[in-house]
Amino acid sequence: MTVALHPSIDNGIKQGSGSFAGGTLVCKCSDHPVKVGIKGDVAHNHACGCTKCWKPQGAIFSVVAVVPRQNVTVLENGDKLQIVDPSAVIQRYACKACGTHMYGRIENKGHPFYGLDFIHPELFQEQGSQGPQFAAFVSSVIESGVKPEQMPGIRARLREIGLEPYDCLSPALMDAIATHVAKSKNAA
Ligand SMILES: [Zn+2]
Ligand SMILES: [Zn+2]
Repeated sequence: MTVALHPSIDNGIKQGSGSFAGGTLVCKCSDHPVKVGIKGDVAHNHACGCTKCWKPQGAIFSVVAVVPRQNVTVLENGDKLQIVDPSAVIQRYACKACGTHMYGRIENKGHPFYGLDFIHPELFQEQGSQGPQFAAFVSSVIESGVKPEQMPGIRARLREIGLEPYDCLSPALMDAIATHVAKSKNAA
């Protein structure tokens, strides 16, 4: 039996065109959907197993990427957006009607990822944005109800489709966080 991870990766990873110029994210509402414009391509696209990221029905991972916050513009029906949890580090703006998270924003200027918004590339109307590169917070899917004994199969399936599973972020992103911490300590 094949492990179902997320509909946009279960049939294999679709690589990006490398020249994606941006596009429009659309929520799941058939009536007055929220539309968010994104300039340019996404970066660090990955499957995420944390409990906070938005996932489509039945998926055990989300697929999430970052873009510079100045590249994100609410285009239509922004009055349907509300912040899921105002106390969270990432302010996730979701559609009140269908629950889809449209973008997540960090307001703490000291945060290593300040300046980047988190988005779900599967919501693009257009094809060709960067494909997923790795899987993060894989062990965390247990917190969403996955049985620990399913984990070897899940990790094997992630590797099979080319997504190296990590239980935190990828080494490149962990290094970026540590570099930020080291710099802010030296500055203090
Ligand atoms: Zn909606
Ligand atoms: Zn996540």
